Amino acid sequence: MAERYDVVVAGAGSAGATAAYFLARGGLKVALLDMKPREGVGDKVCGDAIDVRHFDRVGLPHPTGPEVEGKFHGVKVFAPNERDSIIVEGEGYALNRYHFGQRLLSMAEQAGAEFFGEHHAFEPLVEGSDVVGVKVRDLRGKRVFEIRSSVVIDATGATATLRSKLPEGWWISYRVPKEDLIAAYRGEIEVEEVPERERGYAVIYLNVEIAPGGYWWSFHKGGNSINLGLGVQAIPGNPNPRRVYEEVLEPRYRVSRRLHVGGGVVPTRRTVPCMAWNGFLAIGDAICAANPIHGGGIGPSMLGAKAASEAILEASERDDFSMAGLWGYHKRYHELYGAKQAGLDVLRLYLQRLTNDDLDFIISSGVVSGRDIYDIGTKGRLASDIVRRVSSGLKLLRRPSVLRQLVRVKEYMDRAVELYSNFPDSPEGFERWYAEERAFFNEVQEWMKGI
Ligand SMILES: Cc1cc2nc3c(=O)[nH]c(=O)nc-3n(C[C@H](O)[C@H](O)[C@H](O)COP(=O)(O)OP(=O)(O)OC[C@H]3O[C@@H](n4cnc5c(N)ncnc54)[C@H](O)[C@@H]3O)c2cc1C
Repeated sequence: MAERYDVVVAGAGSAGATAAYFLARGGLKVALLDMKPREGVGDKVCGDAIDVRHFDRVGLPHPTGPEVEGKFHGVKVFAPNERDSIIVEGEGYALNRYHFGQRLLSMAEQAGAEFFGEHHAFEPLVEGSDVVGVKVRDLRGKRVFEIRSSVVIDATGATATLRSKLPEGWWISYRVPKEDLIAAYRGEIEVEEVPERERGYAVIYLNVEIAPGGYWWSFHKGGNSINLGLGVQAIPGNPNPRRVYEEVLEPRYRVSRRLHVGGGVVPTRRTVPCMAWNGFLAIGDAICAANPIHGGGIGPSMLGAKAASEAILEASERDDFSMAGLWGYHKRYHELYGAKQAGLDVLRLYLQRLTNDDLDFIISSGVVSGRDIYDIGTKGRLASDIVRRVSSGLKLLRRPSVLRQLVRVKEYMDRAVELYSNFPDSPEGFERWYAEERAFFNEVQEWMKGI
């Protein structure tokens, strides 16, 4: 290992490996570290579902061969009554996470990144107000040493090991509140028979009694295999997802083989407010890049890697890796995903307050169509005519309060998208923007408390 790199990437998950690939391809000297051994990279507890469109947006080849275990024709969202559902058409892959992760790693290495497995990046190296490298523990030799670099990327996932250890007063060290995390548990299992309604689809079941603040899912992976799991909002009083998985979900199926079971955490919110510092960037789950509604984070982690790499390559042309030099990462990411994500976060906060009766009503009344959900997922906004459509029909007469709430949610979603689309062009504008952001989300949450 060299003593100095242009970029050290901590974490070789979908975010880190993708960033290492783009940066090495751009001619930079890159070290990619992971605490797992090489053969463990990609071994991630996940639902394994990804929208095919992400690959074109990131500019990576689509998965093929052993990376793909199945294909989805869309997502079905079931109401708690399990009779009514909405179908959102759109192609998706059921990935083999391990083979996919290994492919990203080999792409990074073939582009010239140096990979170091079983290397734990445990602390950022800080000098004054700059990050100048990382402290690393070689887990085999137990040796502790420093690696210096122009830029450090935290791609360590939801723990954000490096970002969270930066000095508290730095904007980037924002601590994510527990209520913005989803605790999840899932099994990759073979069942005697995949129910007809789940075949070929990623199926989401809304039910606040089984999965409060989240949902439970069954994603058909082809043949008789499913990825079965649930996520619950990580707040006191909510059930342990593992217990619910074992006592409620698995018994619904006749399991013939358990391939793997395990749990994990997904942040489901808008991004942390600041994602770049002097000599430092964070990507993927480390900045809460996953979709706030369904927790899909593979695609956004790769989009973030692309945005961060472009910002670093541009900074390297100017030889300016200061916060100002790297600041363009925000704009790039918010254009690709972050602004939409902020809109979806408003919707997430609203959905987390609904009861099973509300959800049954919304899905059974047809107030929201599959096309609406597709549009919400693409733009982070409710269609502008949704309010007119529902109010001109009789559908909401049974629940006029839902109409009033939807009108307000739509307004708030639009404002959130605008806010993040107008992220400041330079660090000078950040404090003002952030004060506005905090005031806005406080207003949203105050309103929601009164629902
Ligand atoms: C149960 C569950 C189901 C999910 N289902 C889906 C789904 O169906 N579709 C979807 O798109 N997303 C899903 N997600 C979310 C998705 O898995 C994540 O958003 C995505 O993997 C984030 O990628 P990442 O690279 O940021 O982090 P990770 O995939 O967590 O990768 C982080 C990497 O960093 C390494 N690392 C951590 N700390 C250190 C350190 N200090 N030093 C060195 N290396 C370190 C880890 O070993 C790991 O390899 C799910 C998540 C969970 C938990």
